[in-house]
Amino acid sequence: MPRSVMVLGAGMVGVSVALHLRRRGCDVVLVDRQGPGEGASFGNGGLIQREAVYPHPFPRALGELMRIARNQAIDVHYHPLALPGFVSPLLRYWWNSEPERYLRAVLAYSRLIATCVDEHLALARDADAMALLRPIGWMRLYGTAKALEAAAAQAEAAQRDYGINHRLLDGRALAAAEPHLLVTRAGAIHWTDPLSVSDPHALTLAYAGMFTGEGGTLATGDAATLARAGSGWRVQTADGPVEAESAVIALGAASARITRSFGYAPPTFGKRGYHMHYTLQGNAVLHTPFIDVDSGFLLAPMRAGIRLTTGAEFAREDADPSPIQLERAEPVARGLLPLAERVEDKPWMGTRPCTPDMLPIIGPIPGQQGLWAAFGHAHQGLTLGPTTGRLLADMITGAAPFLDPTPYAPVRF
Ligand SMILES: Cc1cc2nc3c(=O)[nH]c(=O)nc-3n(C[C@H](O)[C@H](O)[C@H](O)COP(=O)(O)OP(=O)(O)OC[C@H]3O[C@@H](n4cnc5c(N)ncnc54)[C@H](O)[C@@H]3O)c2cc1C
Repeated sequence: MPRSVMVLGAGMVGVSVALHLRRRGCDVVLVDRQGPGEGASFGNGGLIQREAVYPHPFPRALGELMRIARNQAIDVHYHPLALPGFVSPLLRYWWNSEPERYLRAVLAYSRLIATCVDEHLALARDADAMALLRPIGWMRLYGTAKALEAAAAQAEAAQRDYGINHRLLDGRALAAAEPHLLVTRAGAIHWTDPLSVSDPHALTLAYAGMFTGEGGTLATGDAATLARAGSGWRVQTADGPVEAESAVIALGAASARITRSFGYAPPTFGKRGYHMHYTLQGNAVLHTPFIDVDSGFLLAPMRAGIRLTTGAEFAREDADPSPIQLERAEPVARGLLPLAERVEDKPWMGTRPCTPDMLPIIGPIPGQQGLWAAFGHAHQGLTLGPTTGRLLADMITGAAPFLDPTPYAPVRF
C-alpha cells in the first residue's frame, strides 16, 4: 500500500477518492486549480440516481437520428464545426450501443449503481450533510397513455431485473402530487429510490471538509505540471512542489488531456450542459424533480431556486458557452411551471465526462506504475463519486475490491 497519494481533481469523484484513501491511512493531497466541486460537480441536476442502471445509449433509430441532425432539439445540440472531432468516439459509442453490447454495459453499470445511495449516506452522515440529501426520488412525465404504458413496462422490468422501485402515477395522481403543474399529462413514473441533492456543490464541499478534518491536505495547482519523480509523482502547487508515491487522475472532462502525455489516450468526449435557477410565482411549489419527456430537460427544486438543467451539447473543449438549449427550454419550462425571475445573470455550464462504452474508467493506467484513473462518469458522476472512491481505494491499498473492477479497467482502451 502506498503511504502517499496525490489526487488530481477535486470534483465529487476526486474528493470521494481522496476521502476513502485518507480513511485507509494514506497521506493524501487533493489538488485542483479551483476550489473543490467547482467543475461539473457544481451545477448538475442533483440526482443520486439509483434507478440509472441503463446508461445513456447512442440513439440508433433513424427518426431519432434525423431529429437530432436537424439541430433544432432542446435535448441535444451540436456545433457543426466541432463534429469532425467527435466522429471517432461517437462511432464507437454507436457501436457499443448495439443491443447485445449495450446489455453487457448495462450489467456492468448496474453493479456500480447498486450501492450509490448507501455510499452517499455513509459519507453524508459522517459529514453532517444529511439535510442536503432528500429522499424524494424524481419523475418522468409522459404525454400519452401509450408512452406511459411503455414506460411502465420498462419500469416493471427494471424492478424485476435490478430491484429498482417506482410508483406509477396516472394524470390525476400526478396533478394531486404537483398541484402547480400547468399542464395535464397522461401520468408519470416516479422513481422512489433516488436521492435529490438540494445543493450539489455544498455536498462536495461537505465531503471535502470531512477530508481535511480527518487530516487530508487540499492544494491549489495545475495537473498539467504532473511529472515523474523517481518511482513516484510530482506536481507543482501554490505551496511548492508536492510529491507522492501514487497519483490519481480525477479531472473529469479534462482527464484524457493529462493522461495523454503519459501515453494513455482513451477516446473520451464531453457532453456540455447548462443550468439556470428560477423563482416561482406567488406561493407555488415543486415537490419532486422531473423531466417532461417530450420537452427534454430537468426541473428540480434546489436551495437556489428551481434549477433547469439542459441535455447534451457537443462542442469543442475550448468553445465559448452557447446556451441555445436553455433559450429553447425556458419558454417550454414556463408552460410547465409558473416560473418567475431568473436568479442568475448568466447560465452555468459544465461538461459531462463521457466514454464510448458508457462505463467509467477506474483502475491502474497501463504502463505507468502508480498512476490511477477515476474519470469518465458521464451523466452519473454525482451519483457514483463515493462508489468509485471506495472501489479505487480498495485497489490502490491492495484490499479485495468490493466489486469486480474488470469492466471499468483503463486497459480496455
Ligand atoms: C447539466 C448537467 C447535469 C447533470 N446531472 C447529474 C445528475 O443529476 N446526477 C449525476 O449523478 N450526475 C449528473 N451530471 C454529471 C456529473 O455532474 C458529472 O459526472 C460529475 O460532476 C463528474 O465529476 P468529476 O469529479 O469527475 O468531475 P468534475 O466535477 O468536473 O471535477 C473535475 C475537477 O478537475 C479540475 N481540473 C480540471 N483540469 C485541471 C487541471 N489542469 N489542474 C487542476 N485541476 C483541474 C476541475 O477544476 C474540477 O474541479 C450532470 C452533468 C451536467 C453537466
